[in-house]
Amino acid sequence: MKVNIIGGGVAGLAAGIYLQKNGIQTEIFEQHAVAGGLCAGWRRDGYLINGCMHWLLGSGQGISFNTFWREIIDLDAIKFIYHEERVQFDVPGLADRHGNTVFHFYNDIDKFEQYLLDISPEDESVIRLWMNEVRFVGKYLDRLPPVFYDEPWWKSLWHKMRLASLTPMLFFMRRWSGSSNYDFAERFKNPFLKKAITLLYEKEMRMQILLFVQSYANEGVAGYPMGGSLPFAQKLVESYLAKGGKLRLNTSVESIEVKDGKAQSLLLKNGEREACDYVISAADWHWTMFHALGGNYLSSKQMALKKLKKEQVFYSFCILYIGVDLDMSAMPHFVRYDIGEKLSSPDGTEYERLEVQNYCYDPMMAPKGKSLLAVDFQTREGQYWMELRKNDYEEYKRQKHLFADKVIALLAKRLGDDFVSHIEMCDLTTPATYYRYTRNYWGSSQGWTPQNNVLHRLPITNRVKGVDNVYLAGHWLEAGGGLPIALKSARDVAWMVSKRVNGKFVV
Ligand SMILES: Cc1cc2nc3c(=O)[nH]c(=O)nc-3n(C[C@H](O)[C@H](O)[C@H](O)COP(=O)(O)OP(=O)(O)OC[C@H]3O[C@@H](n4cnc5c(N)ncnc54)[C@H](O)[C@@H]3O)c2cc1C
Repeated sequence: MKVNIIGGGVAGLAAGIYLQKNGIQTEIFEQHAVAGGLCAGWRRDGYLINGCMHWLLGSGQGISFNTFWREIIDLDAIKFIYHEERVQFDVPGLADRHGNTVFHFYNDIDKFEQYLLDISPEDESVIRLWMNEVRFVGKYLDRLPPVFYDEPWWKSLWHKMRLASLTPMLFFMRRWSGSSNYDFAERFKNPFLKKAITLLYEKEMRMQILLFVQSYANEGVAGYPMGGSLPFAQKLVESYLAKGGKLRLNTSVESIEVKDGKAQSLLLKNGEREACDYVISAADWHWTMFHALGGNYLSSKQMALKKLKKEQVFYSFCILYIGVDLDMSAMPHFVRYDIGEKLSSPDGTEYERLEVQNYCYDPMMAPKGKSLLAVDFQTREGQYWMELRKNDYEEYKRQKHLFADKVIALLAKRLGDDFVSHIEMCDLTTPATYYRYTRNYWGSSQGWTPQNNVLHRLPITNRVKGVDNVYLAGHWLEAGGGLPIALKSARDVAWMVSKRVNGKFVV
């Protein structure tokens, strides 16, 4: 009995760990030289770059993801940081009643409520409504996401009762459906708050998501792991190997070979064939369905996803990492600077603000007395960067340099010219970087974009119509993606395979 897993990202590793725990032999085939997928970090000139996560849902107790992570790694061996504020940012052209032009988005709801009431007593009713909704979500986090167990009747009855207790959440979803922070801002009288609420996120944000994210932060269930993404991914690899899993790096899968409705083997790019009883693809959904399976096993609704629209795919990033020979610990950990002009990226996207992460709170990221900054730019123009890199590598590098120089010049306006003379490391990632290392469609950072209605479901499941023994996992399984979806989708398919093979699933 053997399960071949395509992709050694978080989903592939998690699926492998669960199956190994159930006594099922697995082998992971990973095209890149290191496992972890998008959950990546790398070293550059003495700095450790965090290529991915700022928060891990489930780091703290009180949410089911905490239980899931604990099933596969020793979470207690990781130190998590919980910041006092999510971000602080300029509110251009406006000041609060104390003359402050910077808005603080605090994570603690009681503190945030007091801060808002102090700025705008005239908005008390809407401020209280907002904070009470965040507190309301917090009461249900321990039951989310709903997990369906196939267990003896007395246990499944207990789970059904717990699910029924989530009914008030449906009303909550309805209350906020279709409304964004821009709509919500209209309810405020105070001009400073009205503007600040539109600036809470990089882009317009659905209120349902905003309230959930605030609730995670308030309840202390989503922290930043010290050392960032690299040590976290390594923990998953160690756990997998310790359970007897086999990991083949630098091994690209070309296709899944199917005969009579059953996958027989994986055909590798090097021409080798790897026979198996089950396949789990934890790689890009589009590649799995249209390339590895040749587009032969799709429903008509899935077929419509062949030509993807930009808005369907979660944005990718350009991120400029800067190593500075200065102690910048006095600067906030996350700040959004208004730049007072439009910054054009080579891909045509325009930005009005700089999103700057300062990693001084994590001593693993920079040598003593030095600092690592990261400036993030969301983009939906992944294709531009991928094609430029492929067709004209010199021009790709030139455009990267030009963009990095523009960003540094703008940063100098805020941080001083002295800052520029202390820069000793620069590294700009683009969607082409994410594609090269993970093969995600257009360099998507989290799979699909959530639609306006977060209850909207994509025509995607973890099974493949017409092939009995192929399962799908990873962040493409649910719109919004992220590490929790990678984990949960992997747990679901491991559970399904294990039930088929052993008749039970143990954790
Ligand atoms: C900048 C950034 C910040 C982020 N921040 C957060 C955050 O704070 N919190 C959060 O929850 N999420 C965050 N995410 C999202 C999160 O990193 C991803 O959703 C998650 O890591 C996806 O895991 P996955 O295993 O589903 O997919 P991937 O990580 O994409 O793994 C797929 C793997 O399959 C391999 N593969 C693909 N094709 C083949 C093939 N043909 N043969 C062999 N191997 C193949 C790839 O190399 C890759 O290793 C962030 C992402 C980015 C880019």
